[in-house]
Amino acid sequence: MNKEIITSAKLREDIEIEENLRPKMLKNFVGQRKLKENLEIAIESAKKRNDILDHLLFFGPPGLGKTTLSYIVANEMGVKIYSTSGPVLDKPGDLAGVLTKLEKGDILFIDEIHRINRVVEEYLYPAMEDFAIDILIDSGPSARSVKLKLKPFTLIGATTRSGLLTAPMRSRFGISNRLDFYTDDDIAEILKRSSKILNIDSDKDGFYEIAKRSRGTPRIANRLLKRVRDYAVVKSDGKIDRETALKAMETLDVDSLGLDDLSVAILKTIIEKYNGGPVGVSTLAISVGETSETIEEVYEPFLIMKGLLKRTQRGRVATKNAYDHLGIKTEGQLFE
Ligand code: ADP
Repeated sequence: MNKEIITSAKLREDIEIEENLRPKMLKNFVGQRKLKENLEIAIESAKKRNDILDHLLFFGPPGLGKTTLSYIVANEMGVKIYSTSGPVLDKPGDLAGVLTKLEKGDILFIDEIHRINRVVEEYLYPAMEDFAIDILIDSGPSARSVKLKLKPFTLIGATTRSGLLTAPMRSRFGISNRLDFYTDDDIAEILKRSSKILNIDSDKDGFYEIAKRSRGTPRIANRLLKRVRDYAVVKSDGKIDRETALKAMETLDVDSLGLDDLSVAILKTIIEKYNGGPVGVSTLAISVGETSETIEEVYEPFLIMKGLLKRTQRGRVATKNAYDHLGIKTEGQLFE
């Protein structure tokens, strides 16, 4: 089997497991208490009024549960959910195809909604507001547009970059929810739940060692759990305790904050190549071989939260914490 096939088999396994681990109802969704409370009220109210739910926006870094919550909302409301994503909706026709399938109250989930193209976005406005779209019939001189009524539906948009949403788009969502990084306690709770589903034997300390290195992100926590389980099965009796977890992390090269190779590369590049910064994100992106977008969406939020990196007017700056964490001596830099 070549490497590519192994990787895609592995990915498929990851996706399948991710599906299994998704909580189906709000009561099984750990953490994000405030957000859950607000959602509960909105859902309850819509149900009592026999109405559809307002359009919802979920934003925050990847792996925090935006997709999971969208499916939960559909389950709680007892409606169907159709899933698509911003980059896939290339032409207004693609959108019309999905919209016309929706029954009253159904949910249209658009992931990465900030990446929807402008023409499709314009098309989405009347659909969200008046539940109607203009479709073009015929072409050439006989082309004309006809208004098509849609069944009232709920749009759920998910984005890692709410700042890139246009103001008119943002204003059309009745409820806007920000997802934050999870606490270690919440991640440990999620790991406990996942272990039950995956039949993994671990004690509390084991969960906490994994939680501490999961960057406050359930997706990363679940992935680490599986890798630590593999280590425990091969190197000991299969049970995860503090010691096995620590040894596994060492073998997996996961550092004490759970920073992955690229996060470390970002910090090291700023420090070693640019004397601690400031350096522009596009230059930084080229240096570490990633896109600016991925750096901003996936890697920076956690580095900023942990106080390892700062965004300034002139670019990215490594903080004293970053030097300390990487064990690099500072050379007369002034830290604010
Ligand atoms: P996003 O859409 O924000 O990228 P997902 O909804 O796909 O994130 O979540 C990634 C994985 O993390 C899912 O498989 C889900 O099982 C798990 N997960 C996320 N949030 C929670 C939570 N609050 N409780 C339990 N599991 C969660």
